[in-house]
Amino acid sequence: MTPSAFDYVRPASLSEAITALARHGDTARLLAGGHSLLPMMKLRIAAPEVLIDINELSELRGVSVGKSEVVIGAATTHAALEHHTEVAAALPLIPAVAHQIADATVRNRGTIGGSLAHADPSADWPAAMLALDAVIDVTGARGSRSIAARDFFKGLFETDLQPGEVIVAIRVPVVAGSRTAYRKFRHPASGYAVVGVAVRLTFERGRCSGGRIGVTGFADHAFRAERAEALLAGHAGQADRTERLLDVAFADAAPLEDRFADAEYRLQLARTMLRRALADVLSSDKTR
Ligand code: FAD
Repeated sequence: MTPSAFDYVRPASLSEAITALARHGDTARLLAGGHSLLPMMKLRIAAPEVLIDINELSELRGVSVGKSEVVIGAATTHAALEHHTEVAAALPLIPAVAHQIADATVRNRGTIGGSLAHADPSADWPAAMLALDAVIDVTGARGSRSIAARDFFKGLFETDLQPGEVIVAIRVPVVAGSRTAYRKFRHPASGYAVVGVAVRLTFERGRCSGGRIGVTGFADHAFRAERAEALLAGHAGQADRTERLLDVAFADAAPLEDRFADAEYRLQLARTMLRRALADVLSSDKTR
């Protein structure tokens, strides 16, 4: 349980971090909260020769809450988002999801940027960022770009991030008239989502006009259940419509199978989590 030897670099600015990443190439890894990277190093699944600590970089810190958008620095911890009152008022899904990540120790160190970059298939943030239509701002030696959450998660621990790129911030639109919910079946040991489903419905004059469904834990990467989303407009909780939604939501994804949940059980959990998240949203009158 001891990592192999590594050098430790603490850049003073984002540009220094990018230069260090470019200099060390594949042998270096960014270090944020360390709550995914360090366990992998201890198990020798990862053996970087250089760790570039980005925790204190001012460019990656801070949360700004605007009328139309919340911008979250990549090095913001889960706990900071769990307890941020302005974020809670603008985007209640964010503290609700943060609160369900692991335990207080992990939430105090782990960061949203680290979680998205790591792209664990059972992590909570990806489902929420998909349901909220977040955009991930990244920068590297070749410049900056913005990636829609929908295009970010590519496979098992695989994202659209290119070598040398750093997630700087996550921008989340504030959509008037929306209601949100997150339902997750926790792994009893780690707290990770065996399956987690985030739902955002938008209402106009009391009628559901559409929405987003983000799913984590079910397949090798988080995804949007787009065929089910197409059935959301006009949904008012009718049982037959809900069944049709559940039937198509997971049909295009290959379920993970592990010691905890085989494919059949995982599908059953996913249907149940989506059913509950929809019921939460449709029975609530808390539209923001
Ligand atoms: P790190 O471990 O520091 O880094 C992870 C990876 O991301 C590394 O490859 C690193 O180089 C890269 N990286 C970090 N920041 C950036 C950046 N800004 N740009 C580009 N790349 C970057 N997560 C959940 O979602 N739900 C859970 O229930 C849950 N339970 C957990 C239980 C335990 C016991 C532990 C140890 C972890 C758990 N986690 C869970 C994971 C936790 O949320 C991690 O904090 C998170 O996945 C990674 O964030 P980090 O800041 O610790 O990243």
